[in-house]
Amino acid sequence: VPELPEVETIVRSLAPRLEGRRIRDVQFYSRQVLRHCVDQPPDFLIGRRIKKVDRRGKFIVISLDRGYLVIHLGMTGQVLFDTSRTPYTRAIIALDDSTLMYEDTRMFGTIEWGETLTRRVDRLGPEPFDIEREEFYDQLHRRRAPIKAVLLDQTVVRGVGNIYADEALFRAGIHPRTRAARLRRPRAFRLLSELINVLGEAIKHRGSSVSDYRDTEGRQGEFQGFHRVYGREGEPCIVCGKPIRRIVVGGRGTHYCTQCQR
Ligand SMILES: [Zn+2]
Repeated sequence: VPELPEVETIVRSLAPRLEGRRIRDVQFYSRQVLRHCVDQPPDFLIGRRIKKVDRRGKFIVISLDRGYLVIHLGMTGQVLFDTSRTPYTRAIIALDDSTLMYEDTRMFGTIEWGETLTRRVDRLGPEPFDIEREEFYDQLHRRRAPIKAVLLDQTVVRGVGNIYADEALFRAGIHPRTRAARLRRPRAFRLLSELINVLGEAIKHRGSSVSDYRDTEGRQGEFQGFHRVYGREGEPCIVCGKPIRRIVVGGRGTHYCTQCQR
């Protein structure tokens, strides 16, 4: 599932290829992917010039000379250039010098557009890199939910998903079921700095390919080789040697060390 580092990797390669280009035509082949935007005529997009490509959390935000085009990759969305159409091609966006293909086997991804950013994008919390540590502590302090679930809540900080929540909690030595409100300042501050560290390292390695994440060139990321707990159930903890356990927290599979995380 593409999270912040994977989407950042994609945005960094999309930006130079898209900025300044004009949209010549759009074709959509899935109402499912357009579910937040079924009433909007696709003609809105035709002839628009692309001004900027940014990431907001896990959303790819493409600013047009008028309005926005927003892509969320869901679980299996991929953005590729100039490939042939496949049974999983859900959208084709023809530009003046290339063609953008949106592929999505499971169709949890979405494509939306409009004059303004939708509420889904607008109500996101700050980037983990931008939030002040006091503000992060305040957000945790107000929530009784397990810290793992709070990290996944996109209105607290945006862009964190299952992989990086587990990895940050391990690095900070925090049990994923700990109630967020019970974390005192030093542990909350430590968690934020470990979160920033792991996200930064993952961006350097162009993200994690655990299922079918690929960048715009169809390449895998490399950070899966550096995971300390995620996907390592039963394998020894790299710090203490105890087997990594998998539990379910807030409905999500969660990996942690029973010894190192309290
Ligand atoms: Zn351990």
